[in-house]
Amino acid sequence: MPGNLHSLVRGELAGHLAELGEPAYRTGQVLDWLWNKRVGSIDAMTNLPAALRGKLAAAFHLGGLAHTRTQGADDSTRKYLFQLRDGRYVECVLIPASPALYGERADRRTLCVSSQVGCAYGCKFCASGLDGFTRNLDPGEIAGQVLLAEQLSGDKVNNLVFMGMGEPLANLPNLLTAVEIITAPWGLHIGARHLTVSTSGLVPQIRILAEHPQQIRLAISLHGATDEVRDRIMPVNRKWPVDELFDALRFWNSRKKQKLTLEYILIEGVNDELEQARLLAQRAASVHAKVNLIPYNTVEGLTWSRPGEDHCRAFHGILKNAGIPSTLRLEKGHDIDAACGQLRLKQEQADAE
Ligand code: SAH
Ligand code: SF4
Repeated sequence: MPGNLHSLVRGELAGHLAELGEPAYRTGQVLDWLWNKRVGSIDAMTNLPAALRGKLAAAFHLGGLAHTRTQGADDSTRKYLFQLRDGRYVECVLIPASPALYGERADRRTLCVSSQVGCAYGCKFCASGLDGFTRNLDPGEIAGQVLLAEQLSGDKVNNLVFMGMGEPLANLPNLLTAVEIITAPWGLHIGARHLTVSTSGLVPQIRILAEHPQQIRLAISLHGATDEVRDRIMPVNRKWPVDELFDALRFWNSRKKQKLTLEYILIEGVNDELEQARLLAQRAASVHAKVNLIPYNTVEGLTWSRPGEDHCRAFHGILKNAGIPSTLRLEKGHDIDAACGQLRLKQEQADAE
């Protein structure tokens, strides 16, 4: 299969063009077509010689994502389903003018992107893990979600969270290339401070990312303040238990200026005991993190449910009383299967029927 032209960073593209005997200025021309003019085909790059367009088209395709479906309204959360070249699906969610959940300014359009097809980590509450792992997205498929979402919505994305399908830190090389493309002035030119990577807690990769020179943000899917609770719902915790995870977070803090975020889904009778809130407050304080509480989004085929609103507020109250910056996200998008992996799962089930 030919490569994805949208996956190349500037230096790689320059290398390919030099091998083809092209002058150096061609690199800027091609990047301009890809990320600024945003053409739909190599043939539309009309200031390139026809012979070069032919050679590029023989070796590369563009983007690798085809829009299949949109759910949601123009003025609220929209969810896009994209089909990949191998027939698989990924999804991303555009959240307009969301409140400041990850430390960004309030009036921003946030896009939630996928990093893999499926997920190998098998958290018990999550639709993305239900069918296991299929494959990594390439850098162009990751960055391409931003291009397409901007095209479809007519809006500029100014905030990006890697909280769609997949575990971004299990696809670290492609994630880092995508981050380079997304932040580069020749690429999508979104500031690194407006990017948040979310992980279920891959300790070695957190340490590698901590050393990355760009000031990207990190969110941890914690969902349990003790090994006892976390072991039950997140298999990854058996490999990297809570204490090891928090050692890595202290290391992160020694390298990065941005505040960490701890994500905590509230699942009735599973992780919502008020004692967990007290321990969560201690954990958050120990790494100066803020906490986002998210009432569980029902997933078809899973039996979990969210606690009552009063209980969610009581849980939140304990964090607030402990002085932990925290939000209780009575989230947008509950009605359109906005939790990761849900739309794709429905489409694959429909295709199979
Ligand atoms: N794999 C990464 C990023 C993708 S998951 C991670 O786990 O962090 C993005 C977020 O969606 C995670 O915090 C995850 O726990 C949450 N999530 C998954 N299923 C959910 C559900 N049914 N309701 C609410 N949030 C959910
Ligand atoms: Fe994978 Fe994240 Fe879902 Fe866990 S929560 S199964 S790591 S996508």
